[in-house]
Order: sequence, then structure tokens, then C-alpha cells
Amino acid sequence: MLELKHIQKAFGDKHVLKDVSLTVKKGQVVVILGPSGSGKTTLLRTINFLDGADSGEIVLDQDHYDVTRIAKRDVLAIRKRTAFVFQRYNLFQNKTALENVIEGLVTARKVPKVEAITRGKAALAKVGLADRVDFYPSQLSGGQQQRVGIARAIVIKPDVILFDEPTSALDPELIDDVLDVMRDLVDDEMTMVVVTHEMSFARDVASQVVFMAEGNVVEKGTPAQIFEHPQEARTKQFLARIL
Ligand code: ADP
Repeated sequence: MLELKHIQKAFGDKHVLKDVSLTVKKGQVVVILGPSGSGKTTLLRTINFLDGADSGEIVLDQDHYDVTRIAKRDVLAIRKRTAFVFQRYNLFQNKTALENVIEGLVTARKVPKVEAITRGKAALAKVGLADRVDFYPSQLSGGQQQRVGIARAIVIKPDVILFDEPTSALDPELIDDVLDVMRDLVDDEMTMVVVTHEMSFARDVASQVVFMAEGNVVEKGTPAQIFEHPQEARTKQFLARIL
């Protein structure tokens, strides 16, 4: 479904992604772990060109994209097929939950408004917010706002959803609501790449856990391999600190 090949990215002289390759099969949940600053967010952002990588290849289904020679219409095509869920939701404060969810459908995808509203309401119902469609972000809890963020992702029917630490800005009591919605998507066999520090979520649902440090993939494997039998010293060190 999604393959990253030899992705490299620098900000100025800071080499943030050194040579990252990753394969995500259809229906898989790939969890990316690693210390702060290891390049996890940057990697997610390069997948849908919120940040363009400097070199490497992205394969989405059968389509191969060389990131150094990508056309604008290919970027738009990739964005139509990958959805991003942000750490801090990134909702428009002056739009209701429903308006936030359908904004991209109506403006970028030119879906007729009536159809967009139907799809938007269904997406909000899916994340447990059927009774909040007309609420503004300021009237919603952080967990509810993040669920609007997830509804905005699923409404486009993406091939892959990219989650960037979706629960790390939330108060502890709100985290489970969001994780429950994500587990629901796992049950629906949605393909997902998730940067998170929620280890129990990773253990329960990940098809593959990827450990990154200093811009490299240090180790990857099943949750059992990574959590019970990590091979690399850096992985062991990281897990010892957080488990
Ligand atoms: P992680 O998600 O693992 O915490 P990030 O991908 O956010 O790591 O950041 C990796 C490194 O890249 C950090 O050192 C960060 O300071 C740097 N970085 C990220 N975004 C930018 C940017 N827009 N400009 C300059 N440096 C950046």
C-alpha cells in the first residue's frame, strides 16, 4: 500500500532523516516509536508532502513518486489518498465540527455540498460525535476536537491515515476516547501509520513497530519482537526509560 525508499531530509545542515525505508501493507497498523527529535514527525510529514523530502521514493499502491522530481498534481494526488491527524488537531476555530470535517471535501475535492454534508455527518457519527456537529472547537473537549480531526481524515476515504502523536496534547482522562476511535478504525482494517508513545495501544494493535533514533530506523518488528526481545542497545535503552 505504502512504501518509503531511502528517504532523506535535512533542515539546513541538520540531517533529520538519514536513509529511511519502510513498507506498510494494506490494513496494517505501523507504530513509530523513538526519542524526541529522532525524526518521527518529519517522516510522517514527508509522506504527504507537508514537508518535501530531499531524496528518496514514495510508492503508493502501484504509483512510484521520486520526491526530487514530483509534480504539483502528484502531490495533490498523494494528499487525496493520505490523511493527516495532527497532534494539536489544527481545526478552524471559526468553523463548526461539521464545517471543519467537510472543508477539504468541498474546497479541494470539489465534492458537492449536499454529499459532503452527508459524508461529514457520517464521519462525525463514526467517531461518536453525532450530537456535536454544530459545535465550535471551543465548545468541545480536547478529546472531542481530536475526534473531529479523525473524522476529517476518514471523510476523504484515504488509503492511509498518518497520525502524529494524536493523544499527546490531551489530558490523561481524554486519551482513551481517542484511542478507542483509533481501535475502531483498526477493526475496520484501515491502513495507519501512527507516531505515539501509547505503548499499550502499540502492543495491542501494531502489525509492525518501528524504532527510530537520530534519523534512522534502528529496528523494526512485531510488538512482541520489539517489546520483549529488542536486539539493539538503543531500543533497549529507550524502552527501559518508558515502560
Ligand atoms: P520527533 O517527531 O521524533 O520528535 P521531529 O521530526 O519533530 O522529531 O524533529 C527531528 C529534528 O528535526 C529535530 O531536531 C527538530 O528540531 C528538527 N526540525 C523539525 N522540523 C524542523 C523545521 N521545520 N526546521 C528546522 N528543524 C526542524
